[in-house]
Amino acid sequence: MKNRLSHRLQNISYSQTIAMSAKARALKNKGYDIINLSLGEPDFFPPNFVLNAAKKAIDEGYHYYTPVSGYTELREIICKKFYRDNKLKYTTSQIVVSTGAKQSIMNVLLSLLNRDDEVIIPSPYWVSYLQMVKLCEASPVIVSTKIDNDFKIDAEQLEKVITSKTKLFIFSSPCNPTGSVYSYEELKDLAEVFRKYPNVMILSDEIYEHIRYSGKHVSIAVFPNIYNQVITLNGLSKAFSMTGWRIGYIGAPEWISKSCDKIQGQMTSCANSIAQRAAISALQSSPIEIEYMIKEFKKRRNLVLDMIKDIPGFQFNKPNGAFYIFPNVSEFFGERLFGKIIQDSDDFSNLLLEKANVATVSGSAFGDSGCIRISYASSEEKIIEAFTRIKKALS
Ligand code: PMP
Ligand code: GLU
Repeated sequence: MKNRLSHRLQNISYSQTIAMSAKARALKNKGYDIINLSLGEPDFFPPNFVLNAAKKAIDEGYHYYTPVSGYTELREIICKKFYRDNKLKYTTSQIVVSTGAKQSIMNVLLSLLNRDDEVIIPSPYWVSYLQMVKLCEASPVIVSTKIDNDFKIDAEQLEKVITSKTKLFIFSSPCNPTGSVYSYEELKDLAEVFRKYPNVMILSDEIYEHIRYSGKHVSIAVFPNIYNQVITLNGLSKAFSMTGWRIGYIGAPEWISKSCDKIQGQMTSCANSIAQRAAISALQSSPIEIEYMIKEFKKRRNLVLDMIKDIPGFQFNKPNGAFYIFPNVSEFFGERLFGKIIQDSDDFSNLLLEKANVATVSGSAFGDSGCIRISYASSEEKIIEAFTRIKKALS
């Protein structure tokens, strides 16, 4: 049956984050004591005031289709949020609310990309960027970054890969999977390059904006000379621990927001009405309301840094945001462990699952097969147990 599928589909792979997490869940159901550090999913409950807003929405009768781009009231709140947190000025006609940031990204890609258009993606990148670009039959141009440079792309690297076919640049800061956070100066340098290429658009994925352990978050759209080239992406999954509620949104030039509205009008009609009402309450609240989660993530990040340094053979950068660490484990490649030669990060991640019962994701999913991704969106107790098991298995 495979050859009856569209070429578009044959060309892409399953999401490896989701696949690894499903594998861990299946093993757990069979009775194995698996610690799942594969999925990037906060383990908190959303704040009570958000839950209450959803309950109220049900009672008040918000059961119907909403405007395609989202309730006007929600888009007004998003404009205020963008100004309050990011110093970005958007009007409601520039905002589109979607069924998760994933749909927001796909809307943007479908709006912009023709076959063979080039999309620059610094690696390590979030797993779905590459596959979504391929789904649009465009050409990904991967730029590798180095651990010594905190896995960040610089202006020189960027300018080298821009061609007349470049349509889009996609990146996340804070970054999934490396936890790297771009500073104002670093973004300014990149913005200087983009300014010279007004036809290149930038998709700035800021979904981990609030999950940051020092400094201020900077949106690349703050640089006025490239504001019209930027699509700023955010969502509720991470900051409000609302992964299953599926709310993402963009602020963008109107020609892009209009096009996303057109696509969404054909594909989903609108995002879930109850979740949108809850989003109004979430986004109008002060970021202070979610500080308890950020503090907890910071404690866990420090715990992870403390434990990982005692594992010989792991090389890592200090993550300053998101809830992942992305150690390079290539020192183990070519070695025989538990009777098997470890060839790459796929082998290494599988070994940790089989021999330490700890689920991680192979770096190959993120464009760097020297590394593995470990999510610390899990309790301190589980983190301690997981690192103890990893250390023991490798010693
Ligand atoms: N971007 C990044 C960098 C992510 O880690 C995720 C994880 N889910 C998404 C986008 C998609 O988020 P959502 O749950 O809103 O679809
Ligand atoms: N963004 C999370 C991750 O990277 C959730 C899984 C997904 O959406 O792919 O693990």
